Order: sequence, then C-alpha cells, then structure tokens
Amino acid sequence: MTRRSGARRIGILGGTFDPVHIGHLRGALEVTEMLALDELRLVPNARPPHRDTPHSSSQDRLAMVRLAVQDVPQLKVDARELERDRPSYTIDTLESLRAELAADDQLFLLMGWDAFCGLPGWHRWEELLEHCHILVLQRPDAGSEAPEALRDMLAARSVADPQALEGSCGQISFVWQAPLGVSATRIRQSLASGRSVRFLVPDAVLAYINAHGLYRASN
Ligand code: ATP
Repeated sequence: MTRRSGARRIGILGGTFDPVHIGHLRGALEVTEMLALDELRLVPNARPPHRDTPHSSSQDRLAMVRLAVQDVPQLKVDARELERDRPSYTIDTLESLRAELAADDQLFLLMGWDAFCGLPGWHRWEELLEHCHILVLQRPDAGSEAPEALRDMLAARSVADPQALEGSCGQISFVWQAPLGVSATRIRQSLASGRSVRFLVPDAVLAYINAHGLYRASN
C-alpha cells in the first residue's frame, strides 16, 4: 500500500441509524482495522419529516450514534446531513467533505452490495468516484451479478485487494463480511412489543432509548 506521509484515510458509513446497533458498529470497526483507516465517520441520513414518525427524530438518532461511539477513538459522527434542511444526495455530502480535506486524503465510501447495485439510480452517480473510493461490503451469501449499467465502471475501476486501493479516490473494492443478525427494524419491533434489546445496542444507547421512551408501541 503506498501512502503519502500526512495523507489521512477516512471511511464514511451512511445510514438511518434508527437506532444504531452492534451490526453497524462491529462492521465499521472491522473495516477500520482491516483498511487501517485513521477514522470512520458514521453519517446519519436526514429523512423527509413525514417519515420521522413513528421512529425516532433526527435529534434522537444523532444523540444515540454519538453515545455509541463515545469511547471508540476511531469511530466518529458526522452530522452534516442532519444540519441541512432537506435530505442530502451522497454526491453533495462528498463534495462538502472534500472541501474540508487535503487533496491527497483518501476517502472510502462504504456501502452494502444491495446499495451498490442501486447506484445507477443515484443523483450524479458517475461523479462519486471523483471524490472517493467505494468499498462494497459483501455478504458471503450474496449474489454477485452486478447490473449491466455498472459493468464498465467495475471493469475499469475494480481492485481485487481493498488494501491496495491507491490515491485519494477513483477505485472500487470489495470486503467480505458476515453481518451480525441484527437490524434496526428488528430492534424497533422488539421494543414495540416490550421485549429487551440488551446486547443488541450499546448500554448507553439502551439507556437513552429507555430514558426517552423511544420505539414504544404508544409512540
Ligand atoms: P433498518 O432495519 O431500519 O432498515 P438497518 O439496521 O439496516 O436499518 P441502516 O441505518 O439502514 O440500518 O444501516 C446503514 C448501513 O449499515 C447499511 O447500509 C449496512 O451497510 C450497514 N448495516 C446494517 N445492518 C448491519 C449489520 N447487521 N451488520 C453489518 N452492517 C450492517
């Protein structure tokens, strides 16, 4: 791996984090260690206001993500998408991040295989690689037939070894990761039926959920 001294390696993982759970956190930490990232930023997505109910507000989602990473030096929270008054396109987030980084800092956009396959529907998707590398998190059991629209880009930009991604942006690689069997949907369902979600979220997040009465059936 060639690294110019001083260049930082920064990962980005977007999500609704409603709520953040151990699947997000373990996945983020494993990628951080595997790629020797200097930091990985969890970026909570804004949602249209009418979709905030019955789930938690942007403010609560952000507070929970902050609590989840408070003792983990490599994991950070980037609230820029919540600070805008409308949902952000990923290209906007990348442009805004890039404006704050040194030109040779390496940016790694993490996304699951399903999200990657949907890339051709994203706003200005062909410009994403001008700002970042894309790191596709592949489940060992996932199908791997990419949509036609992505074949040329994959042929031109794929690098087999994610640790060999070079430069500040422009390449795609794959990380094989067995996700933990946990989802925010399942956590919300458990809480709504009065079941415990202990050990599925960090204790500090659980305390916040309880203190604020989040995800209860009556909310
Ligand atoms: P929901 O159940 O509400 O759809 P979720 O648990 O899938 O939510 P998101 O906030 O949508 O969580 O997740 C953001 C990203 O985190 C996803 O795109 C995915 O890459 C990753 N992720 C989600 N769940 C897991 C998991 N169990 N293990 C590893 N990564 C995960």
